[in-house]
Amino acid sequence: MKLGNDLIRRGVNYFHHRFTPRVLVLLYHRVIDLSFDPQLLSVTPQHFDEHLEILHQFTQPMRLKDLASAIQTDKLPRRGVVITFDDGYIDNLQEAKPMLERYAIPATVFVTAGQLGSQDEFWWDELDRLLLQPGKLPETLYLRIHDGSHRWELNGATEYTEDDYMRYRGWHIDQSNDPTPRHKLYRSLYQLLHSMQQIERRRTIEKLQNWAGKDRWRRLSHRTLNADEVVLLAQGGLVEIGAHTMTHPMLATLPISLQREEISQSKACLEDLLDQPVDSFAYPHGSYTDETITLIREAGFKYACSSDTDAVWRGEDPFKMPRVVVRDWDGDEFARWLKGWLGI
Ligand SMILES: [Zn+2]
Repeated sequence: MKLGNDLIRRGVNYFHHRFTPRVLVLLYHRVIDLSFDPQLLSVTPQHFDEHLEILHQFTQPMRLKDLASAIQTDKLPRRGVVITFDDGYIDNLQEAKPMLERYAIPATVFVTAGQLGSQDEFWWDELDRLLLQPGKLPETLYLRIHDGSHRWELNGATEYTEDDYMRYRGWHIDQSNDPTPRHKLYRSLYQLLHSMQQIERRRTIEKLQNWAGKDRWRRLSHRTLNADEVVLLAQGGLVEIGAHTMTHPMLATLPISLQREEISQSKACLEDLLDQPVDSFAYPHGSYTDETITLIREAGFKYACSSDTDAVWRGEDPFKMPRVVVRDWDGDEFARWLKGWLGI
């Protein structure tokens, strides 16, 4: 009897998984061949080309706005896939856009509006530049920040040679071990900065720059789009520009008034540049509350993406469409992963 029930349940699950329509929203950040990528944000151009080839062969690529309408009319297409990019790096224009055009596959790029044309790298990139590139650092770091004093010792890892850099360039934040005190420091500063608000984070980065003896200097490989480049990215209509706040905060940790500013200013800034409505939004770090969603609606956005990991199923809330993060997989691995999600 038990076996029979199990079989029925497994059969129902199988049919549910295989035949219930769902759309997969892919979350990319960068298309670039970086020699070191501690946040796993990039996919190489070669791999991105392989991903597009597979999407072209096996799926129905669609626009985010069409997915939002399909949710509302409860008519999700089979094998639907939407491509999105977060943050607004320059390679989205230089590398990704020409490839998307070759396959005629649409995408939405969520741009951090306050970062347009900035001379600074994003704070997570700046941490890598200061701590995990070859060079010398002082032995001890003291920081006094809101929750008290912090002190770290580099324990002899003050010097980081080209050989060290090459040895550890496969390291990333998702690994459980930190091979040197520098990696440990990177991880604890990453966690501290992550929970800070913009002003304090800026101040802390400046202290770190002084401590490391490095100028405020942006690497070309880590630069973000400027205003003209966002316009170019939108040209041709294949790429939709969406908003991703002004300063990329964890919205859920901000008071309502600051959330409102981040949300509405980013919309106004991008609409001013593009001279057209900006309808879509993505929550930085996937951070939002019910109040955030109310603010997004009030600001006039029509739909929004979260970073919750799932496919979009029937009845989904168009203001928190889940997404799945794509890593730097080759075509075969990407195809296996994709088919698992789509049940094909
Ligand atoms: Zn982001």
